[in-house]
Amino acid sequence: MSAPLPASDRAVAGRVPAFTVDAAQRLAGARQQASPHFDQRPDAADISLLVIHSISLPPGQFGAGDGGLSYIDALFLGQLDWRAHPSFESLRELRVSAHLCIFRDGAVTQYVPFDRRAWHAGVSAFDGRSRCNDFAIGIELEGCDEQPFSDAQYATLGAVTNALRRRYPAITSARIVGHSDIAPGRKTDPGPHFDWPRLRAALEQEPGA
Ligand SMILES: [Zn+2]
Repeated sequence: MSAPLPASDRAVAGRVPAFTVDAAQRLAGARQQASPHFDQRPDAADISLLVIHSISLPPGQFGAGDGGLSYIDALFLGQLDWRAHPSFESLRELRVSAHLCIFRDGAVTQYVPFDRRAWHAGVSAFDGRSRCNDFAIGIELEGCDEQPFSDAQYATLGAVTNALRRRYPAITSARIVGHSDIAPGRKTDPGPHFDWPRLRAALEQEPGA
C-alpha cells in the first residue's frame, strides 16, 4: 500500500494528465520536442534505471528563454544561443539531452523516445555498472540546489514515474536515483531540496509485489 498523498498533491492531482507510454515509446500527455542529442541504446530492451536531475538556465532562474523557447528546451535541442547569458559560455560545446523535463508549472516535455539513449548522466555508475545512459531514463526537473521544487512538479513526477514503471517494470523503486547518486563528487542534482519520501509516497505498489 502506498501512503496517502499529501493534501498539496491531491489538490493538483485532478489537473495532471493520465500519462501513458505509447507504441512509439513516447509519453502521451507530454509536449514533444525532438532533440538531435541521442543515439541507440546497446540493448533497447534494457530500460532499468530512472535518474532524476535538476537544471535551471541561467542557474537559479526559472522560465527564462528566448523567442518562445525556454533556454532548457534550447539546450536540449542544440539551439541555445550561448551569447544570451554569460553563464552559457561554458555550455557552448555541450551536447546533452534528457528524455523528459518537468517545468515549474508541472508541464512535461519529451526530447528523446525512451528506447533511444539520451545524453544526461555522463560519467556514472549504478550498482557496479558504468555508463548509466545505456539503460536509464533521465528526467530533468526545472530547479536548483537552493530552492524547493513545486507541488505541480511532484504531482507530474509521481504520475509520470508510475506510467514509466507500468511500461518498464525493471525500474523498481530501488532503481530510482538522483544524478548525485550515480556521479558522486561530480554532480549534486537534484539537490538537497528534492523530497525523496514525497516521490516514494506517490509510487504505486511494486509490479508483482
Ligand atoms: Zn543531472
